[in-house]
Amino acid sequence: MKWNRVEGAGDMVDARGSGRGRGAAVGAGGLGIGGVIVVLLLQALTGVQFDIPNELDGGSSVGSGSVGYPSSPEEDELAAFTNAVSVENQDMWTSVFQSNGKTYERAKVVRFSRGVSTGCGEATSATGPFYCPADQRVYLDMSFYAEMREQLGADGDFAWAYVVAHELGHHVQNLTGVFDATQKQEREDPGSADGAQGLSVRTELQADCYAGVWAHAAFKAGELVEGDLDEAFGAAEAVGDDRLQSQGGRGTVLPDTFTHGTSTQRRTWFTKGYTDGTPAVCDTFSPDQV
Ligand SMILES: [Zn+2]
Repeated sequence: MKWNRVEGAGDMVDARGSGRGRGAAVGAGGLGIGGVIVVLLLQALTGVQFDIPNELDGGSSVGSGSVGYPSSPEEDELAAFTNAVSVENQDMWTSVFQSNGKTYERAKVVRFSRGVSTGCGEATSATGPFYCPADQRVYLDMSFYAEMREQLGADGDFAWAYVVAHELGHHVQNLTGVFDATQKQEREDPGSADGAQGLSVRTELQADCYAGVWAHAAFKAGELVEGDLDEAFGAAEAVGDDRLQSQGGRGTVLPDTFTHGTSTQRRTWFTKGYTDGTPAVCDTFSPDQV
């Protein structure tokens, strides 16, 4: 994917080395046997290889980023790319909301490493990329990209862009009231969130469709290169473990087990958004079958 560097801070917040979670959630000397089991279980469930750290004290060398946290040029470059994608994506949503007479509130994209405190509780890298509705922030550990790239066996910059766009899609859902509506429906009809046609899958598929809407805009802007769409499809399959955390959560952000839908469902809805380019086609809640 072709991209232009953003001048200034953009949408990014650097929270590396800030999380109470890096110590509290996993223990001072390492993950502990319980944590290791959780990580191994996650690997088995998602197929994504997670790094099991030996120590979590955050390191001592001072990098160019967060104070006291070492910085690698590759991860800094990925953070710049993430910022470029987020700014372009959220500029697009600003226009979409404007054309509907609404105001778009930008989400911050938080770069963290190993652990971070969020409005939804403490999180670690093992949680994977996620969006927290309570503080309206997307949380990404740049080290997750290397794992995804190994999984994809490709360069995969557009795959990462897809992940960013999907998480920002959850932010759009938060602003449009989708979460409130689905939570209400679930209270009235327990179990309605579950299953291949349930509200959770439909919520995820809508975020995929919104990522497709952004990909359409990126295509029109001449930013896509050969293979980019395949990367996005690959990411939809490989990184099915992003986390949408519940509103106003406290304590620890726990990896959950909700399904994102089948590969076919995800590809179908991403393609809908990509082909049409307008979010109106992303109504995953009305059809009998998705
Ligand atoms: Zn999601």
